[in-house]
Amino acid sequence: MSDVFRLPIAGAVENDFARLGGAFFTHLPGEKVGGQPQLLHANPGAAALIDLDPAVFSDPRFAAAMAGHLPLEGFESLAQVYSGHQFGVWAGQLGDGRALLIGQVRNRKGELWDIQLKGAGKTPYSRFGDGRAVLRSSIREYLCSEAMAALRIPTSRALSLVATGETVLREKPEPGAVIARLAQSHVRFGHFEHFHYAGNTEAVRALADHVIAEHFPDLDYADFYAEVVRRTAVLMAHWQAVGFAHGVMNTDNMSILGLTLDYGPFGFMDSYDPEFICNHSDEQGRYSVINQPGIAQWNLRALAVALSRIVPAQTLLEALDGFERHFGARYRSLMRAKLGLGREEEGDDRLIGELLALMAKGRADYTLTFRELPRAKEGWLNRFGGARAEATHWLERWRARVADEELSGLDRVNPKYVLRNWVAETAIRAVQDRGDVAALDRIFKLLQAPYDEHPKMEEFAAPPPAAMCGLEVSCSS
Ligand code: AMP
Ligand code: MG
Repeated sequence: MSDVFRLPIAGAVENDFARLGGAFFTHLPGEKVGGQPQLLHANPGAAALIDLDPAVFSDPRFAAAMAGHLPLEGFESLAQVYSGHQFGVWAGQLGDGRALLIGQVRNRKGELWDIQLKGAGKTPYSRFGDGRAVLRSSIREYLCSEAMAALRIPTSRALSLVATGETVLREKPEPGAVIARLAQSHVRFGHFEHFHYAGNTEAVRALADHVIAEHFPDLDYADFYAEVVRRTAVLMAHWQAVGFAHGVMNTDNMSILGLTLDYGPFGFMDSYDPEFICNHSDEQGRYSVINQPGIAQWNLRALAVALSRIVPAQTLLEALDGFERHFGARYRSLMRAKLGLGREEEGDDRLIGELLALMAKGRADYTLTFRELPRAKEGWLNRFGGARAEATHWLERWRARVADEELSGLDRVNPKYVLRNWVAETAIRAVQDRGDVAALDRIFKLLQAPYDEHPKMEEFAAPPPAAMCGLEVSCSS
């Protein structure tokens, strides 16, 4: 067996990040965790992003490479250093404690994509961690990245899922895994904070130059920041509109490209609850659904502090003021679309707000309330529990309002299937308890087409069955 693996791609392997120099990362190979890596799933859709021929999935050396056992030809793997604010407190140096950049690939379109492993072993930034990822949380990230992409929400992507055969100790012993994910950059707000708090203006500048050259050509530093504000606001609008919450919105998990990044204790709401906290470890509810846009602003302010080394603070704060405008405009347009409100009419905002208030009062299912709206009958009204009478009245007003609207496209706007916790848990149990990878594949494909009807998979559109209620997800995933 050759000691490097040549990826069958059309484009070129590049070493763009490494050009930043040694202050930004440490070169190291994967730790070769576990025994013989076993490919559990691979994703042709993500492979297409890097023009990777999916025939490679059957090559055992692909599994080895995607577990960090075999380096990719032309790239010296590396762990990146960054810092961050965790739960509002400066945490100092963090970094890729269990992530490893194993390649950067330029596709035919000219886009540069990182291939990053999660769970491939310890790095100099592992601190007290073991550098491992468990199968449970890897399946969750794998499925959710692709669910989000299908929902047209900016996100990192999932290329492959490999079982390591190793037992990893968390609250209890669990099987280990490595996920390979793709993103056009894994640079986080915390990368900039790292060099700011080290007093290193030149490194902040070099990092900004690096990110701008690849992703924001033509923008100066101030406009670059304004664009990060805009993208982050747009991301928050998408999360809110689809009922998604990221459990750990620390600055080290905030993508400089405005992507959903680092899936840990995330959650899609079942019944609508603005106070919903998806992370069991978040006792104060800092990252509750309702708080997320405000937290994004807090994080953007932390980024502004770091960038104040190269842009006047006043300019940055003015750009940050744009957040509410960007967020408000996108959220409003997404919610209008969900209700089929084409033309602007007075009272539209109130109509949207009242529905949300009734959903919260009656604990109506977030996803299905919108999905079933165009066909709303008794079952829809029953979702509102004690707020049923008010929901009846609201429905009449909505019908009158949309009488002249074109509603035939609503099912392309309101998904039927999202990655509910219990659905993720079903996939996890199938793989973990029964080795049933086919069940994982079925759920994966379902989430890739969330707006379609899937008569044989209907059960997965529903709120959790009694036995699957109250599943908890915590930071230790
Ligand atoms: P998170 O909030 O999960 O994205 O992680 C915060 C920090 O902890 C990052 O620097 C991670 O690389 C690191 N980390 C999380 N889990 C582990 C682990 N099992 N081993 C090493 N580092 C970890
Ligand atoms: Mg993280």
